[in-house]
Amino acid sequence: MNAEIMFTGFSILWQHLDKSCPLQERSSLKTGRSGHPQTSYRLTLESGAANKFSIFDQMQQITNNIYQISLGLVNAFLIEDNGLTLIDSGYRNSTDKIFSAIAKAGKNPQDIKHVILTHCHPDHTGSVAEIKRRLNISVLAHSEDARLIEQGTGERLPIQPSPGVFNWLVYNLLIKPVNTRIEPVIVEEKLKDNDVIPIAGGLQIIHTPGHSAGHISLLLKNEGVLIAGDLCANVIGLGLSTVYEDLNLGIKSILKAAELDFDKAVFGHGSPLLKFAKRKINEKFRPISALYG
Ligand SMILES: [Zn+2]
Ligand SMILES: [Zn+2]
Repeated sequence: MNAEIMFTGFSILWQHLDKSCPLQERSSLKTGRSGHPQTSYRLTLESGAANKFSIFDQMQQITNNIYQISLGLVNAFLIEDNGLTLIDSGYRNSTDKIFSAIAKAGKNPQDIKHVILTHCHPDHTGSVAEIKRRLNISVLAHSEDARLIEQGTGERLPIQPSPGVFNWLVYNLLIKPVNTRIEPVIVEEKLKDNDVIPIAGGLQIIHTPGHSAGHISLLLKNEGVLIAGDLCANVIGLGLSTVYEDLNLGIKSILKAAELDFDKAVFGHGSPLLKFAKRKINEKFRPISALYG
């Protein structure tokens, strides 16, 4: 079985889990970074599985202001306040799916005013250049990853798989072989820790390095939501992302974010935690920090 077929199987399983138990905790099929799943995603579409599971180009309202856009293997997010702010852009060729999801929810994609990128990986930055070209909007990212994004580099090496046989397999079969070049894009605003973007009562930037050096999570204080990015994941349960540039630093960042005031959390990979997210993240990762911190 080659990696592509294997990943298609994983993705179908994932989609099935997403469809069948959307709010339950699951453990750890994750794609911390990659480009290869994009190919599998296309295969899935061609096979008709996308219609069957029907989670592509769907938008789920998380709170008054926040929506999750499910793009199959990765999520993007939309904040509605004085226009629309898109967080992350999916893989390459995701623009139409994102716009379709927004339109299906009765909103106008032309109202997108900014794209904020949680980090440089191609499953989050793959379509940002195209979206910018179509809408002439500004792009925001942490300065550490903005340098790579502007060079068309979708990863910073070396990276290591998280502990566990499954992470090792996913990394070696599905992530490591991937070409991670992205279309370069200018990042107009370089973000730093504790910056606050003046939308929806204040969107706070939390610098959470580890998965990548310029990784950010975002806290929408008024609604008590942490937009975690790939800080960690919630695919088949709350767990580490598949890869980190620096695992110890990544765990420190999880604990840093876990001290913030939020009740809901959304992730680049997997389902949202709609209740008690702060407590769940602390319960999951504080014991792990004793092993790796
Ligand atoms: Zn990532
Ligand atoms: Zn990712």
